[in-house]
Amino acid sequence: MDLNNNILNFNNILGQKEIVESLKNSVKNDKISHSYIFSGPKGIGKKTLAKVFSYVLLCTDLKEENEGCGKCLSCKYFLEKANPDFYIINSSGLNIMIEDIRKMQSDIVIKPLFSKRKVYLIIDGEKMTAQAQNCLLKTLEEPPGNNVIIITTSNCNALLATVQSRCVKYSFKRNTNDEVQTILKSKTCKLPEEMNFILKYSDGIIGTALEIVESNEFFELKENLINIVLELAKENNSKFFEICNFFVQNKDNIDKLLDIMFLIYSNAIFSAADKKEDPLVYHEALNKMVVNECLTIDKLLRNIETIEQTKKYLKQNVNFELAIETMIIKLKEE
Ligand SMILES: [Zn+2]
Repeated sequence: MDLNNNILNFNNILGQKEIVESLKNSVKNDKISHSYIFSGPKGIGKKTLAKVFSYVLLCTDLKEENEGCGKCLSCKYFLEKANPDFYIINSSGLNIMIEDIRKMQSDIVIKPLFSKRKVYLIIDGEKMTAQAQNCLLKTLEEPPGNNVIIITTSNCNALLATVQSRCVKYSFKRNTNDEVQTILKSKTCKLPEEMNFILKYSDGIIGTALEIVESNEFFELKENLINIVLELAKENNSKFFEICNFFVQNKDNIDKLLDIMFLIYSNAIFSAADKKEDPLVYHEALNKMVVNECLTIDKLLRNIETIEQTKKYLKQNVNFELAIETMIIKLKEE
């Protein structure tokens, strides 16, 4: 992500108003806690806000609105991602080990270089092993200096109760469609029906919306899946193996594929219920099928159930090909 000054403002954070206000007030009143937990779904903006907060906490010449000045040494180094008073613990996929926490603890006792404190950002805190968390607990119980620790997590329950109880907790909420749309509009000129699909798929999570909005692969998959849905709704379809093959070839994206199919079917229900062609239900041909009752509401509901069931099977590590074949046979059924 581009860490330019523009992004590192509280004012540029979309939504999460209560959290932003609360953090701003704590800066204004100089009532900073030693440790915070930012929890919420992946892609919701926890890390972005944690960086803005850290930037402000480290600025040595705060502006009146409690935004980082962008000019002091601390801000300058922060913007260049080289501020030694800002320390990130990031597992990059693997667990965060006790050694990582010990390293942090040997850093926390060293005085800050520019600011009156240091800030430690633990990304994906749920990846800390139990030993790592117990080790961290010592620092949370007796934090040296004015230092601040921020833990972001998409699974707060994976943090020990003792860790949780030592931190000020903020739960991030999903953004509204309007908020997501505001961000997307500045990035893209997608067609209204595509925009509508992105909004529904991302379900209030800005990170997801941004990821797919510029992804050609995503829209190719969606087109392919609409064709598959159309083919499966035909009385005499003969492309069983081709369809199975498509899923096998895109095995790595299976969660995405099933989510997209789920959306296609569940949104078709609306036009089936209204008995009119809704230009926002993604596809003319699909719309026609629904309106002409080749796909009834009852069948659409059963298909949704089939997809949910397939998701469950795959989570239970049922053989992939078998789960997909079963799904396709069920989706084909009348
Ligand atoms: Zn500054």
